[in-house]
Amino acid sequence: MRKFVFFQPGKVIFKEGITREVGSYASKFGSKALVVTGRRFAMRSGYLNLIKESLESHGLKVEVFNQVEPNPSVETVNRGSRIAKEIGAEVIVAFGGGSPMDAAKGIAVATSLGRNVEEFLSPKVVENEVIPVIAIPTTSGTGSEVTKYSVLTYKGKKAVLVGDPIIPKVALLDPQVTYYMPPELSAWTGFDALSHAIEAYISRKSSPLSDLFAVEAIRIITSELSKSVKGDKKARADLHYASMLAGVAINHAGTTMVHGIGYYLTTEHGVQHGLANAMMLLYVLEYYSREVGDKLSELARRAGLGENWKDLIMVIARIEDEVNIPDSISDLKVSLEEVNRMAFEALTYDRNLKNGPVVPSLEEVKAICMKAIRGRREFLKDLIKDK
Ligand code: NAP
Ligand code: FE
Repeated sequence: MRKFVFFQPGKVIFKEGITREVGSYASKFGSKALVVTGRRFAMRSGYLNLIKESLESHGLKVEVFNQVEPNPSVETVNRGSRIAKEIGAEVIVAFGGGSPMDAAKGIAVATSLGRNVEEFLSPKVVENEVIPVIAIPTTSGTGSEVTKYSVLTYKGKKAVLVGDPIIPKVALLDPQVTYYMPPELSAWTGFDALSHAIEAYISRKSSPLSDLFAVEAIRIITSELSKSVKGDKKARADLHYASMLAGVAINHAGTTMVHGIGYYLTTEHGVQHGLANAMMLLYVLEYYSREVGDKLSELARRAGLGENWKDLIMVIARIEDEVNIPDSISDLKVSLEEVNRMAFEALTYDRNLKNGPVVPSLEEVKAICMKAIRGRREFLKDLIKDK
């Protein structure tokens, strides 16, 4: 029987150039703002100044914390939180990809609840209200601007804060900020969004309503990603919209084994998060097709990508070729000897694995990792042979 809860608070505004209006949204929450961003892009693009000016022109006092690294650590979050406490921040403005947005959410938790952020990591759930976060995503991938997750690096692993109070109060979606992304970043983050949508669709927690968001995101991303990577502005704007849709989908249905295995590539080899997902997506989908082949085939039809799950896999593989996703994880310096450790690590992310339609054994994860080592070309040959 159909049963679900759908809770999606937060205002989402999609408009070219909306970044310059951030002050008018922030001033509703108070008069002291902390801007949280990364080390380079905000400053070099001139957006940091534009944001400061907008906030100040609306009477806010502004402090900047521009020290957020990719895959932010809890230490970075705690440093940011000390600054937020010192200035008595009443609103946090996050400008950047998933990393600054997630760091901002962590800073809001640590600052409001008065302790180090690691004390609130999952399996705990953040239930108390925290300082409001206004999120301005500059990549089109994580959907963090609409999710209740903040993914942080803790003791060399990916850990997560979870809770409705950390969903940003306002998400400002400004396609203009994404025009600066170099082709690889646009490709990799696009694959993060595509993974979110597909994983949400096959997750145990999926619902008819989360499926709506997932299907629409998949339809747009599969049709526009290659153009977006080439720099087409309309396609970039479409991707920015679609990654938000995929964020709503995972906000309700969560991610699965693609993320669970991909984390190893990031923590052990520094592979960018979206690229890590792209490297695992095909093999994990083939594995899950044993359990949810019908649902994946339905997805292929609903998104207009073919008749069955193999068609879906082939469309994804074609796009990976078009946007230069490497063929194999061995191209990213993963060696055959590592496969045991990689599979073992993946199993430690049971929050992701338990969310999938079937929970794999260690041997099954190893087999998936082996396919990722052999690479996409060989995998597709086998897939077509069996078709
Ligand atoms: P990111 O780590 O935020 O950014 C990667 C790099 O791209 C940074 O060096 C950044 O510059 C640069 N950059 C950002 N926007 C740019 C632009 N418009 N033009 C040029 N360069 C730009 O990448 P991300 O993929 O968006 O985020 C990945 C993180 O999000 C991971 O930690 C992942 O685990 C997490 N995540 C969170 C959720 C969630 O629901 N919360 C979901 C999926 C993933 P700077 O160095 O200047 O910052
Ligand atoms: Fe992700």
